This record gives sequence, structure tokens and C-alpha cells, in this order.
Amino acid sequence: MVRKGLRHSRVYEARQLYDIYSILGIPTNKKLIVCPLPQHPHHNNTPSFSISMKDGHQHFHCFGACGASGDVIDLIGYLQISNYDSLNGEHVRRALEILSAGYKISPPARAPRTPALPNDIWETFVPPGAEVLEYAKMRGLKPETLKKFMVGQSGMFGKTWMTMPAFHFGRLQGIKMRNVHAVHVRDRYASMEGSINGLFNLNGIYYSPDPILIVKGEIAAMLLDQYGFLVCAPTAGESTACAELLPHMIWSSRRILVADNDPDPKVRRMMDEYAVKRAEMLRAEIKRPPEQYKDIDDFLLAEPKLALAAVEGWLK
Ligand SMILES: [Zn+2]
Repeated sequence: MVRKGLRHSRVYEARQLYDIYSILGIPTNKKLIVCPLPQHPHHNNTPSFSISMKDGHQHFHCFGACGASGDVIDLIGYLQISNYDSLNGEHVRRALEILSAGYKISPPARAPRTPALPNDIWETFVPPGAEVLEYAKMRGLKPETLKKFMVGQSGMFGKTWMTMPAFHFGRLQGIKMRNVHAVHVRDRYASMEGSINGLFNLNGIYYSPDPILIVKGEIAAMLLDQYGFLVCAPTAGESTACAELLPHMIWSSRRILVADNDPDPKVRRMMDEYAVKRAEMLRAEIKRPPEQYKDIDDFLLAEPKLALAAVEGWLK
């Protein structure tokens, strides 16, 4: 949809933070209601107005006579602005203002996605054995850091994995596994069966008003945490924009998304597109290490002083 003259990030944010159900004052189990829009001709009380999740945000659609559809911003527009036109940037801007000034933030409930992993399964993998300790050392991670993040070792599928659990408020979301002897890019990472996407180190950044770093993976996050930075990493692959994680980091005054410099130009183009999309969803600024380094880990390990100064500069 065209959103002329509007910063997209504000639209994305509003879609994540306001709930159509709570604005209409209806229970979240109602999927179809009588159309509440003023332009709907009311001959009868047939429910025609549906609410669903689409492209990561709530969407309404009236299958009845008015045929209106849109997101939470459009809903406010139709309810409160006469002759609202969702393609008119000025109308959308006014609707957004009414929404943010007059309604309580109430992030929409997600379709229930529950991890199918027993909450304490990570304990069976700790403490890590010699192979993981050695691998972690090579990646710059100290034994205390491994302990702090409950990193372990698993011999699943005849391979040696470094296990890295992600928790949301004490609930295990999933366990990322790094094959410590991987030869090919494709063998490097796996997620333990039953994992769902989440935010690694959510506990470390939650409610913080300070600037935070958003990195690509658990290892970079642990490395930066060792240096005292507020850092988190979406556990989903780079192609996932992770809009659902924004409410978890909305208190931070600034968000810095740390992108990579992939040496393969084709991969680089794709990764850059993913980074732009993710940064837009999480309302973050993109920063990257100098071109000669593939990623922030490389930069930190090769030139720690310079890298730390750079990261501190990004957060200022
Ligand atoms: Zn209608």
C-alpha cells in the first residue's frame, strides 16, 4: 500500500504496538464481527468484519457491503476521519496521530507459538566438553561467558555441536547448535527440533532505555557481551525480518543493526537486502565493520581496540 509522505518505520511500529481487538473492545477469540465502520450500510446484523494476521501484522477485512480493509491505522482512519482514504498520505498521517495520541499501546497477541522443547533440556548439555571449549576459545569466548549463556555441548547426529539456548523470561525458546567441525557453510548451524524463533539475550536488553546492538548470531552477541555491550541476536536466519521482536526492544533509545561484509558480491547483495528489511522492521540503523572484515567477530578478534572504539562510536 502506498504510504506517501510517511516514514515507513512509524507505520511498522504502530502495526506492532496497537491491537485491533483492544481498540474495538472485543475478545481476541472473535474472528468475525458485525462491521463497526461508520460507512457500512446496516440493514442487518450479519457479521462480516474479519480480523486476521497477514504479513506479520493484524489486518481487517469487511466481506459485507462496505468492503473496507486495512491495518490498525486504517481502522482508526475509517472510524475517526470522514471520507478516510487509505491511499492519501495526509489521511494516514492523521490516523497515525490519533492512534498514538489516543490509544493505549497494547501489542497484538500472536498466534500461540510454543516451543516444543522441555524447558530444562539445555541442562543436559552443560558443562561443555573440551571440543566446544576449544572452539569457543578460538572464537574469542571465555569460559565464564559460556557459563553465563548456558552454552553446552551435544553429540547429536554424530557431530559435535556447541549448544546455545535462547530464553524469553525464563522460557526456553530454542537451542541453536553450531557444528564445531563444520567444513561447509551449510553444515554450520542447526536448531534443535522443537525450537521457535526468539531473541538471544533478551534478558540482557529488556527494558533498557540505552542504545542496543542487534547482531546476526549468538556467538557475536556473546563476544560483544563480554565487552559489556547491550546486545541481542534474533535466532532466526537473516532472511527473517523479525518484526515480532520489536516490542521486546522498544524501550531502547537507539538500535544499531550490525551487518556483515560478505566477500561474495551476490551473497553480499542478498544479505544487504535482508539487513535493510530487518533494520526497517526493528527501526534500527545499520552499521558494519570496515570492508576488510567479514563480520564484527573478525574485526573484534583482529583489532580489538579499534573495533571497540568503532562500536562505542556507533552507540553514541
Ligand atoms: Zn463493513
